Amino acid sequence: MNLFEVLGWLVFLLFVAVYAFKREMLDEAGVVSAIFVGLVLLFVPQNPSGWVWLLVLLFFFVLGSFASKFKKDSKKQVEENFAKGGARNFMQVIANGVGGLVFAVASFFTLSTIPFAGFIFSVSAMAGDTLSSELGVLSKTPPVSIKTLKRVEKGVSGGVTVVGLIAGILGGFLIGVFAVLLLFYIGVQPPGGIELFLIFSTLSGFFGSLVDSLLGVFMQGLYYCPKCRVLTERKVHKCGTETKLIKGLKWMDNDVVNMLAGLIVGVAGFLIFYFLVM
Ligand SMILES: [Zn+2]
Repeated sequence: MNLFEVLGWLVFLLFVAVYAFKREMLDEAGVVSAIFVGLVLLFVPQNPSGWVWLLVLLFFFVLGSFASKFKKDSKKQVEENFAKGGARNFMQVIANGVGGLVFAVASFFTLSTIPFAGFIFSVSAMAGDTLSSELGVLSKTPPVSIKTLKRVEKGVSGGVTVVGLIAGILGGFLIGVFAVLLLFYIGVQPPGGIELFLIFSTLSGFFGSLVDSLLGVFMQGLYYCPKCRVLTERKVHKCGTETKLIKGLKWMDNDVVNMLAGLIVGVAGFLIFYFLVM
């Protein structure tokens, strides 16, 4: 990168962060961590260049915020009890960036394009997971618990719907296609060839939403509001009452579950992919 390009990307990064802040997609700490993730991706030498990685991550955020704005009114009730909604904070940005940072470092040391595939699978998993929870709640049929196979309330972690699983597959596929288009633009072959690359990113979207549901039902903290007598995933309920942990691990909240699902699927997908293409 020459000085002109460096300055151009810095301005771009700053512009995107300020825009996201103004639109209330990021809070103050979220802006700082997003700029940090962006700088690492841009300026740690990788193959392909860091800006390709950065644009994929941005595409994921855009996809996620479209999905969360989609039919917002019909999601209100569910969001109050479960999902957090609103501006992304420090932890959420770092959680979404961790897979990128891990594979970017791997790319720096190997200078091969294969770690980039791992990065795409981990972003695909996060996109699958985000789209399936944002669009799955719109399902007309109630979700079924992945653990008991019985019907559960909308928004409960571990509840799956057909709409949600299809949205997960779509999320992975869209990330894969976006990455392929960027690679073609810079004249780089997708590692493993276009078909295998797309199959793996699509499957990562599906498994991302599945692993997220599994972690959600078996490990995520579930709380009880003694005042309203309802289950919730919030430590402080919307009524202001402090809730009691009745199941799962306290530190395993929605953000940690998302991050772990992205990492597990990204790393597992990457290892299988690696042995297939090497
Ligand atoms: Zn309450």
